[in-house]
Amino acid sequence: MVDAVVVGSGPNGLAAAVVLAGAGCAVTVLEAADTIGGGTRTEELTLPGLRHDVCSAVHPFGVASPLLSSLPLADHGLEWCWPEVDLVHPLDGGRAGVLRRSLDDTVAGLGPDGDAWRRTFATLSRRFAAAAEDLMRPLQHLPRHPLLLAAFGPRALQPATLLARRWHTAEARALFAGVAAHAIHPLTRPTTAAIGLMLTASCHHVGWPVARGGSAAITDALASLLRARGGTIETGVTVRSLGDLPPAEVTLCDLAPGPFATIAGDALPDRVRRAYRRYRRGPGAWKVDLAVEGGVPWIAEAARRAGTVHLGGTLEDVATAEAEVHRGRMPERPFVLVAQQSLPDPSRAVGDVHPVWAYAHVPHGWDGDGTEAVLGQLERFAPGLRERIVGIHTRGPAQVEADNANFTGGDIATGANDPWQVVVRPRLAPDPYATGIPGVYLCSAATPPGGGVHGMCGAGAARSALRHLGL
Ligand SMILES: Cc1cc2nc3c(=O)[nH]c(=O)nc-3n(C[C@H](O)[C@H](O)[C@H](O)COP(=O)(O)OP(=O)(O)OC[C@H]3O[C@@H](n4cnc5c(N)ncnc54)[C@H](O)[C@@H]3O)c2cc1C
Repeated sequence: MVDAVVVGSGPNGLAAAVVLAGAGCAVTVLEAADTIGGGTRTEELTLPGLRHDVCSAVHPFGVASPLLSSLPLADHGLEWCWPEVDLVHPLDGGRAGVLRRSLDDTVAGLGPDGDAWRRTFATLSRRFAAAAEDLMRPLQHLPRHPLLLAAFGPRALQPATLLARRWHTAEARALFAGVAAHAIHPLTRPTTAAIGLMLTASCHHVGWPVARGGSAAITDALASLLRARGGTIETGVTVRSLGDLPPAEVTLCDLAPGPFATIAGDALPDRVRRAYRRYRRGPGAWKVDLAVEGGVPWIAEAARRAGTVHLGGTLEDVATAEAEVHRGRMPERPFVLVAQQSLPDPSRAVGDVHPVWAYAHVPHGWDGDGTEAVLGQLERFAPGLRERIVGIHTRGPAQVEADNANFTGGDIATGANDPWQVVVRPRLAPDPYATGIPGVYLCSAATPPGGGVHGMCGAGAARSALRHLGL
């Protein structure tokens, strides 16, 4: 049997391990933290019994992932829960853009912009699974659906602000801007439309669900499947050098290029080290987890039923905030993402106390305190929220990085989503997962197809490792 080692138990590390074990390898996963899961963990951060998602919360790409959807994760405890309304983007004055899994219902809610919304998303949503087969893999392959890609490409390459010109109401424009802002990159830059298009189409295809019991259920299910396939996981083991690893034919590292270069030391070829040094990191996150009695008193009625709420005002406001963050300045009113997991999954509430997950985009490595900025955005659209808060836990970029070396400077996307790195990451190479050290691969979100909980980086790296092994 071939021995394989995986460093790091984030969703990509575990996905890689599951694929390798499925191909007959004897897999050992080594994890630095005391618990598995990396950016996919759930903990009691505020009150006893109230479980908060430490990092990821909402998982359209988890459901739509060609890998995760092909694995028997339901047999290992993973259950998806869908909210009644997927996403609401409130505006001042009580109006809101509303995104629902049903394209028809979304179109109906967008009034005069409904038809343009349908024209933009109908094909991509209907053929999302086909698009994902091509777009959730490295671009260095022959597309399986070239016509679909040819239709998607020219729109995807645009700045989000340019694509949004097809809509005229503040609601539709803000709704798209908020989704595109998941790029954590200025919305006036090329390729930011791609993230808005894919995430919106994923909603119309599979919705934006949460995992029952918390995001940890995703990595717990992967870990359980791995063990069923004979793999083992050791926690509390920080790998400081590749030389410390047990002997193995292949090693996959769920690490960003910087931390990987450190543990690889002199084994890393100079040209690869230089390329990894050039790898750019993105802005940071200021995370706020709240325990809220009675739920969030949103003015916009639809937000009271929404799994996800985006706070930032109009498209212009969101674009300004994202540009400021990119320039290294903290905006007074940052873009804030909110999840209300207890709406799709009532088991998350304790009595009438609900976990509310929020984070703001802040400059890379920012050392201020973003708590008031996040609470200010919440109060703006849900006045009276502060009186309902019975527990709070906050983390800035330094703490986010301290918890997980991959999130340098609070960069939760494991790399800037600038136009080059959206297409080519972590370096230009025939095999983006290869490190130049024979048998050693990167499998983190710094590799294609990038950030998010979908396991496709791990799957791609595992395929490269299996090719190396001739399996
Ligand atoms: C605040 C926040 C909110 C997010 N929201 C969402 C969301 O809603 N939906 C979504 O899809 N994604 C979200 N993400 C992004 C998502 O969490 C990441 O893209 C994903 O976790 C990346 O997975 P990964 O396996 O590549 O790496 P990671 O999850 O970063 O895992 C890497 C693992 O390697 C371990 N490790 C690091 N160095 C070593 C070492 N030297 N030795 C041993 N182990 C090591 C780490 O401890 C960690 O467990 C969010 C992230 C954050 C931080």
